[in-house]
This record gives sequence, C-alpha cells and structure tokens, in this order.
Amino acid sequence: MKWSFSAHRAFNRCQRQWYFRTLASGGSRSRNPLVREASRLSKIQTIDAWRGSLVDDAIDMFVVPRLIFKASIELDRLLDATRALYERRLLAGLERKSIDDKMVRFLELEEGNESVPPERFGRAWEEIRASLTNLSTMNNLFDELWEAETFVSQRRLTFSFHTGYVTATPDLIAFYKNRPPLIVDWKVLAGFLSNYRQQLHTYAFAVSRTTPHKDYIQFAQHLAYPEKIRLAEAQLLTNTLLWHEIATADIEGLQNWIAMGMDEMALAREGEFRASVKPEDLSGPSDPETCQRCPFRNLCWERLNPGEIKRWESYEPTFFQF
Ligand code: SF4
Repeated sequence: MKWSFSAHRAFNRCQRQWYFRTLASGGSRSRNPLVREASRLSKIQTIDAWRGSLVDDAIDMFVVPRLIFKASIELDRLLDATRALYERRLLAGLERKSIDDKMVRFLELEEGNESVPPERFGRAWEEIRASLTNLSTMNNLFDELWEAETFVSQRRLTFSFHTGYVTATPDLIAFYKNRPPLIVDWKVLAGFLSNYRQQLHTYAFAVSRTTPHKDYIQFAQHLAYPEKIRLAEAQLLTNTLLWHEIATADIEGLQNWIAMGMDEMALAREGEFRASVKPEDLSGPSDPETCQRCPFRNLCWERLNPGEIKRWESYEPTFFQF
C-alpha cells in the first residue's frame, strides 16, 4: 500500500478519483487498456494547476541553481527565462503535444470545449509573474536559504511505514552544516489562504525516516528529529510566508493519521485491486464541483452509466496489472 499526502487528499475528495489515479500509476505502457487510459487522463491539468507546476519548475530550473552557486537572483532574467518556458509549454498544450518529456493537456480544452478565452492564459501568465516577483521579495526566506550548504529540490522520499510505504516530494530542502534542514513548500493559490501545515509535517516526518540520499548523507546527524526541522510554506500569489513547527504530539497524531489513511485505502481496494473492485462501488465527491475539475470525468461517467460503456464493456481482468 502506497500512501502520499496527495493520494490521501484525493481519497477523501473522491474515492473514484483516487482509484483512477492509482490505476494511472501503472503507466502509459501497461498492457491493460484501462490503466493506459487512466495514465493518459492523469496528465490533464486545469490551467490553474498548470501555472502552479510551471512556477515550481521555474524555481527548480532557474532559482535553485543560483542558490547552489550563491549567485544573486535577478528578477528580470528569472522572468524572461520563465516567460520562454511558459510560451513553449502553452504552445505544446494548445497543440496537445509533449515537451521536455511532459505531456501538456488543459482540462478546459478537453471534451470538445475549445472556447477558453485567450485572456485566461494571459491571466495565468500574470499570476506566474506575480508569484515570482513576490518570491524575490521574501527576504526572510532568502536570508535562511543563502546560509545553506546544499539543496535538493522536488526529490521523492520513500520509506516503509505501517502496512506499506510512504512517499513525499518536498519542493525544496536546504541543508546546513551545523543545524537541521529547512523544508520549503511553494504554493500558488488565489483567494483564501489555505494552510498546508499537515503537508509540511508529512515532509518533516519523511526527511527523518528516509535513508539519507548520497548527495546529502553528510547532514544525516541533523535529520533524525522531525521536531527540529524548520518548515516554511511560501504562498507566492498572496506574498505570505508561513512558518510551521511540528511538536512531538503532532508526530504521534501524524503517524496515526497516515496509518488510518492506509487502512481505509486498503479496505476500499480489498488489499489488491481485484476485478470485484469497481469505481462505481466507491464513494463519489461530497462537492459536485469536484467533478468539474476532474481529469477522469469521461472515463468515470462511462463506467457509471452502463448504457454508455462502449470501450470497456468486454474488459474483465482478474487483476489489474500494474
Ligand atoms: S468525475 Fe466526479 S465522481 Fe468521477 S472520479 Fe471524477 S470527481 Fe470522482
């Protein structure tokens, strides 16, 4: 059983969406057509999610290398490089092509809906630009980052826990010679301020439990205690920096929460994903709006309406093959 913060959230949001996401992890080369279709659909993003991942990648590609070499961040150059990335990816998305080994597909342009007003993409760029501009003004954060010895960004951390294993991918971990690391999570969220404290707690727990990778093994003595790891949630669009702490009691609660999530998922999928487990047997979202932002909508609704199931009607596997 694989647990991650995002899988747990998907499971709570809609068990069927979690089901399709889990199937999608089987990959686009699976022999199973359902897995291949779920994998294809999992690449589809809303414009908002796309611009958030573009900001993450811009920081990873254009900011982190400068932190590593202790070079100053020049906002104009950062924006120029990000604008070029934005244009390449936008073009790929409009033409439904892959770029940099990534398929770019916009949910708003799927299902025959070709009527996204061009200004919607213009707004996405303005939000990307504002996010990076705000980042450049987060002096409290940069004061900490400039002192780090090294960084790893978007690194997948995996460790065994309870009945399975946990994966976590922090946006950035800064390591220091004489003190515990700093974990930073970038968020590009408009409107209300959401608090991702529990996600950051998960990252601290993952850093403390994962066998140190060879490029940061020299900092191992500072990684064992999650309550000493510093946590920063950078809300880039609203220019808000939230510092979180994780207390010993939080760690106990977090472990119970992860274990319960694993057990609930295991119960829903009956251990393995057997043919007897179908998305229609799992619960849907409490908020119907969730379906409007769901990339698996076509596949899901075909399954839920047997009269319209065409592609899958002859498909009866004994086990889903991952
Ligand atoms: S379309 Fe709705 S019910 Fe189906 S998986 Fe997506 S969110 Fe869940």
